[in-house]
Amino acid sequence: MTATPSPARTIRVDLGERAYDILIGPGLIASAAGEIAARLKGRRMAVVTDEHVAPLYLEPFMAGLAAAGIEAVSTILPAGEKTKSFEHLIPVCEAIIRARIERNDAVIALGGGVIGDLTGFAAGIVRRGSRFIQVPTSLLAQVDSSVGGKTGINSPQGKNLIGVFHQPDLVLADTDVLDTLSPREFRAGYAEVAKYGLIDRPDFFAWLEDNWQAVFAGGEARIEAIAVSCQAKADVVAADERENGRRALLNLGHTFGHALEAATAYESARLVHGEGVSIGMVLAHQFSARMNLASPDVAALVESHLRTVGLPTRLGDIPGGLPPAEVLMDAIAQDKKVKGGKLTFILTRGLGQSFVADDVPASAVLGFLEEKLSA
Ligand code: NAD
Repeated sequence: MTATPSPARTIRVDLGERAYDILIGPGLIASAAGEIAARLKGRRMAVVTDEHVAPLYLEPFMAGLAAAGIEAVSTILPAGEKTKSFEHLIPVCEAIIRARIERNDAVIALGGGVIGDLTGFAAGIVRRGSRFIQVPTSLLAQVDSSVGGKTGINSPQGKNLIGVFHQPDLVLADTDVLDTLSPREFRAGYAEVAKYGLIDRPDFFAWLEDNWQAVFAGGEARIEAIAVSCQAKADVVAADERENGRRALLNLGHTFGHALEAATAYESARLVHGEGVSIGMVLAHQFSARMNLASPDVAALVESHLRTVGLPTRLGDIPGGLPPAEVLMDAIAQDKKVKGGKLTFILTRGLGQSFVADDVPASAVLGFLEEKLSA
């Protein structure tokens, strides 16, 4: 009998009666069923995954559930951002209903942020809310999307415009599975790791500058980066679950990034979410400098680090043309409410000094984008 590896770290998301654990460490796919059975009474589960993750991890995961006495069915969806749509939500809801998932049973997302967001949404609406377990398999999902309860799908008008808040009951982040992630997707997830440093943890950003290669290589530095990121997200979510204030800081780089994703029609070949966030964070720092809020040196430092790890940082890095600035502004206006010509943006006063600015003139953003598009 092989010993069950114990998780390297446990982080609690402190939401009172709905508090839950994030377990982070190697080998968690193998011990997942035990962790689930120890926490949930239900013995019926509906697992949702995608076509890339399924051949790698679905079979051992399902075998573990069966060995723990859990009866589970699986649904395999196409991979990629376009899957976050009504078209794919419907079969997932139907599979959950067919599996007769009841109050103590659970819906499980085994995959990246796309699978987590879509499956969480289905879990949130079937029977007015079913238990939900996240088994994030991409770096982005482990450090960001699996934690915090934001679920949903996209509409042609913009990202994540249809969805609900639905917190998971458990998050199991197996750090070994990141070894099969493509370098491009690993880098995309790293953009969200760097984001936590840029929001309010300058020491973490400095640590990443020194240790990013070790984070990419795996082992203890990777676990540390994921744990710091999850703790940062857990703190914000516990303080402001419904984004009435502080949680908005997590959108650093996302207003520009979401507009770029919409402008590239969610074509993963051109741009994936984390890449949009990378370019968006650089733009947010450059725009902060333009508004005389921060030194241009900060934007240069941020861009330098993201470029060093191999992330895109400029509009011109996106293959294929981009629409004019007015079209990007329409997408930004969908993403963030415009009140009296003013937008809400996450800007910065320095490295790791981000803040919510709710009076940004739309005209200034338009002018900035026009300049960046013609650069
Ligand atoms: P993704 O789910 O598309 O995964 C990226 C790619 O990696 C996919 O092709 C997937 O099949 C593959 N993959 C995943 N795990 C793998 C593994 N272990 N080995 C090999 N391949 C693997 O994208 P993502 O970057 O994980 O997530 C992006 C999504 O997350 C976006 O839709 C974004 O809007 C959302 N998001 C949500 C939140 C939130 O709070 N809910 C936060 C941030 C991002």
